[in-house]
Amino acid sequence: MKINILTIFPEMFEPLRASMLGRAMENGIIEVSVTDIRDYTLDRHNRVDDTPYGGGAGMVMQVQPILDAFRAQGYGGKVLYMSPRGEMLSGRLAHDLAQEEEITILCGHYEGVDQRALDALEAKEVSIGDYVLTGGELPAMVLIDTVARFLDGVLASEESVLDESVYSGLLEYPQYSKPREYEGMGVPEVLLSGNHKEIARWRWEQSLELTAERRPDLMKEYLDKPHEELTRKERAVLDKYR
Ligand code: SAM
Repeated sequence: MKINILTIFPEMFEPLRASMLGRAMENGIIEVSVTDIRDYTLDRHNRVDDTPYGGGAGMVMQVQPILDAFRAQGYGGKVLYMSPRGEMLSGRLAHDLAQEEEITILCGHYEGVDQRALDALEAKEVSIGDYVLTGGELPAMVLIDTVARFLDGVLASEESVLDESVYSGLLEYPQYSKPREYEGMGVPEVLLSGNHKEIARWRWEQSLELTAERRPDLMKEYLDKPHEELTRKERAVLDKYR
């Protein structure tokens, strides 16, 4: 997947080279191209922002350097503008975006971007939450990270994406690793039993507990599903939560 980024802080994308995303780039699963919008300004003083028409606080990123950068780089695909006004990023949106061959992400700063740049690029606005950050670079990295997890070869196995909190419909059960005892704290016996059926059952019940307690909205959706795969005994467990 080709991921293009338009930013005035290209150095902020260095962390993408670490960890799993770095490996995905080395393996050619994702190809990231970062362009400094400032390289395309026609302003003598290298500025890319100006005051808003109609007055008001702050500055607005200008249309010219953005469109020139996009065109000169030959960027294409779906264009996304990271913005607190946008559609909330979710697993579903990330999964849909992972089907694209190419996306271009525009990162705003100051008070935002001249609307004409967004209109010309037919940009879809995407938010990472109901709070305001100083720029679109961190939101862009959040989006890239979660989209990449849906691409074949980024994670060790496909199973691990679908098993995880939220995507499975429930929050994930508690996890434990070695040592068996640490500072007097043990590990639940069932996990040491080697009985895979019992372990799966315990994990499922832990997930139900956590989801009911922390995310009643997800729990309601889960309970509303038909659950034909469950045994009568398991359905009785679910009934306790209804
Ligand atoms: N004046 C804008 C508004 O009220 O909608 C906020 C501008 S914000 C200070 C600067 C830039 O940070 C935005 O253009 C956007 O690219 C990015 N940004 C801030 N919060 C964001 C969020 N929650 N999700 C995605 N991008 C965000």
